[in-house]
Amino acid sequence: MLEVRDLQVAYGAAPALWGVTLELRPGELLCVVGPNGAGKTTLINTLAGILRARAGRIVFDGQDITALAAHRFCTAGIAIVPEGRRLFTGMSVLENLELGSYLPLAKSQRKESLASVLELFPALQEKLASPAGELSGGQQQMVAIARALMARPKLLLLDEPSLGLSPRIVHDMFAAIRRINAAGVSVLMVEQNVAMAMQVSSRAYVLEEGSIVAEGLPGELLERPEIQRAYLGV
Ligand code: ATP
Repeated sequence: MLEVRDLQVAYGAAPALWGVTLELRPGELLCVVGPNGAGKTTLINTLAGILRARAGRIVFDGQDITALAAHRFCTAGIAIVPEGRRLFTGMSVLENLELGSYLPLAKSQRKESLASVLELFPALQEKLASPAGELSGGQQQMVAIARALMARPKLLLLDEPSLGLSPRIVHDMFAAIRRINAAGVSVLMVEQNVAMAMQVSSRAYVLEEGSIVAEGLPGELLERPEIQRAYLGV
């Protein structure tokens, strides 16, 4: 469904991704884990069309989207939940959600989409009229995910969904991500919370210093001594 080949991305003269190759199969819940500064945000932003690849290819649903404008990534069926959520904090929760469905196809399904995101995150129901900035961190993350789903994506990209949330909320958030995936949306998330991300994912890649250094089933990866040393404090 998504094929990334030899992706290179740089900030000016400073390379951030050195030739990343990965694949997401239809229906997968894939995670890319790695430490601070590994290039996770760079990868997710490039897959969302926000950053440009310097070299390499991104093929989505059989279409080469590498050079498309950012809004065309959205039309193609890719939605992002960016780092830091990027909500319009002065606008109501409902307005934030509606902004997610501005494209014609999504707009025509706005009512159904709203009903389904409220079913996923019932806590948002009574907050619809509240300014998004007044919500708790966990609720804001729900709004950010719900807003992305309002676009009716085939592929949902998540940048560190657990960041800044308490362990219980992180648990709920990953449970919601699993439900989204079970409902037929493919998911690619990048995470520093390796243990949790691996628990919910069907396959994982490890990104270090801009390169993929390992790939496999989470259970297999978690048994490797070098992964345990680097990420699980063993
Ligand atoms: P974090 O978990 O801290 O967000 P990350 O794995 O998401 O880390 P990136 O944010 O993608 O990593 O950063 C990868 C590399 O690119 C780092 O060396 C970082 O310093 C650099 N970098 C990121 N954003 C910029 C930018 N806007 N300008 C210049 N360099 C950047």
